[in-house]
Amino acid sequence: MCLGEPLRLMTVLSRCRSRALAIGWRFTGNRARPSISSGARVRFGPTRTGGSSTCNPSGSFPEQQSPSLGKLREYAAAFFQTEVKALPPVSVDTGGFTSRTNSMTRRRQILTEDVLRWLKGKLPADGFCLLAITMEDLYPEPSWNFVFGQASMTERVGIYSFARYDPAFYGEARGKDYQALLLRRSVKVLTHETGHMFGLAHCVHFACVMNGSNHLQESDRRPLHLCPVCLRKLQFSVGFDVVNRYRDLARVDEQAGFADEARWLSRRLAKIQPAGQ
Ligand SMILES: [Zn+2]
Ligand SMILES: [Zn+2]
Repeated sequence: MCLGEPLRLMTVLSRCRSRALAIGWRFTGNRARPSISSGARVRFGPTRTGGSSTCNPSGSFPEQQSPSLGKLREYAAAFFQTEVKALPPVSVDTGGFTSRTNSMTRRRQILTEDVLRWLKGKLPADGFCLLAITMEDLYPEPSWNFVFGQASMTERVGIYSFARYDPAFYGEARGKDYQALLLRRSVKVLTHETGHMFGLAHCVHFACVMNGSNHLQESDRRPLHLCPVCLRKLQFSVGFDVVNRYRDLARVDEQAGFADEARWLSRRLAKIQPAGQ
């Protein structure tokens, strides 16, 4: 098996508050702070203090067909208020991942289980989680047609494909806003899935990036931002300043062309900090 495509790596540093509280979230719904955990049955929370999470872009990222790695990194840093590092690219051959040609699309797919197993051994000592992102299509097991991505929350590793966010994947023309659409979908899945690793379950409270979705249309309907409930949970876990986070996010949203999200954040900032205060 020789795939020959490079793996490209990116690291996100995090500041989780405490192991004890994270475990509380995981198993008890955080009795110490019931006001922010009610209704939240978090499967897996942060498990170490001062850890880091890692983004690991894998496969080729053709410039005209892929979300910008720099923008993904910057967006994740603003969203989680953590340092984000891109790690050096490595070859998919290094992992010896199983692949196949999908009988319907006639496109190559990579077996996610192989990637997850490989990632587990690559989580840096100071790493909180390690994510692989790729423009390759994925499948989780032979009986499945495809999967957008797969993660092990206990091991804090995940692999996500943006291949099916590209209209060209379905034989459709790329619109003039293709790059913005691809970036929007990519940061959405990146923050949603990494949010799970930070202890956020699917949100049922408000329109929220942590809402569950079963297909692309449902995912597209989700906003990019966290609702107040999920924001409080993430803030409790990471310990950031909410105003600084909103400002950082508004800036990257503006730069990315997410004008609707930038406006939403501006309205939140205006509420939190009325003029003159
Ligand atoms: Zn989810
Ligand atoms: Zn929410």
